[in-house]
Amino acid sequence: MECPRCKGVMVSDRFEDVADDTGALKFSGWRCILCGEILDPVISANRQCHHEPLLGRSRKKFATQLG
Ligand SMILES: [Zn+2]
Repeated sequence: MECPRCKGVMVSDRFEDVADDTGALKFSGWRCILCGEILDPVISANRQCHHEPLLGRSRKKFATQLG
């Protein structure tokens, strides 16, 4: 596993997160030993779902046309 941020070595690790009604929620993910970047299945899924195209320019252009 390669860190997407620093290209460092990532190790499989287990994390604990606190859920409101179910108590402690454990999940496994990846942690970069160099920069501390953490990847987990939820974060990975969100990043894939919220794949943003380059809309910055078109939005500015659109706003300019309206103004
Ligand atoms: Zn890293």
